[in-house]
Amino acid sequence: TATFVRLQGIGHVRVHQHRPVRGTVKTVSVKREGHRWYVILSCEDVPAEPLPATGAVVGIDLGVASLVTTSDGDHLDNPRHLAASADRLAVAQRDLARTKRGSKRRRKAVARIAALHGKVRRQRLDGAHKAALHLVRDYDVIAHEDLRIANMTRSASGTVETPGRNVTQKSGLNRSLLDAGWGVFLRILADKAESAGRELIAVNPRNTSRTCAACGHVAKENRLTQAGFHCQRCAHTAHADVNAAINILRAGLALRDVAQAA
Ligand SMILES: [Zn+2]
Repeated sequence: TATFVRLQGIGHVRVHQHRPVRGTVKTVSVKREGHRWYVILSCEDVPAEPLPATGAVVGIDLGVASLVTTSDGDHLDNPRHLAASADRLAVAQRDLARTKRGSKRRRKAVARIAALHGKVRRQRLDGAHKAALHLVRDYDVIAHEDLRIANMTRSASGTVETPGRNVTQKSGLNRSLLDAGWGVFLRILADKAESAGRELIAVNPRNTSRTCAACGHVAKENRLTQAGFHCQRCAHTAHADVNAAINILRAGLALRDVAQAA
């Protein structure tokens, strides 16, 4: 069905509605991205939609190969399409560098870059919404890495705790596109969790990727490749991100026990 929005000075404009409007509309803004125009509504008093308890808890590891890997072994939102857009973006930026100032080719190259940025943003939002929805539907409690601590660790050491886990061999541009995705995802997850009455726990990510989920042995040698975890003490072998997600879940449940005992 067609939806119309009345804009001051313009009149009624037909829009494609991505999501139903809930609550009371407080502000309406119009934004342009390349050839596309967006109407953005912000609403107040959005009714909460608590979901029935599932009795299930989960830890999630945030990564690049998959946005989310769960302690149950699920890989959510493989952003391969995102990587493809990022590659096209890198090419478009090289093309731009070869154009002359003020030329028609330059204007075209700039428009193409803007369009690709918009596409990446939309793909990322879409993937983040789907992954977050999946998690709040299936789990009562979701433990995740505290990104503020993760970023501090990263900048303090000049590198990620385990090279290859968050850092791809890709260009800095690619990496920054993917990095920014975790913050966006966690904000979306927090919104959906609050609305659904789910509990989110942020844990210190220290050692979560180098600790063996089977025996607790901590060593960076446990992590031989980006995807492979192999414990040097008990020989436990697992997908590295699943192993990390299990550790994140345990850390989250431990924090919760402490909070409940207090
Ligand atoms: Zn072990």
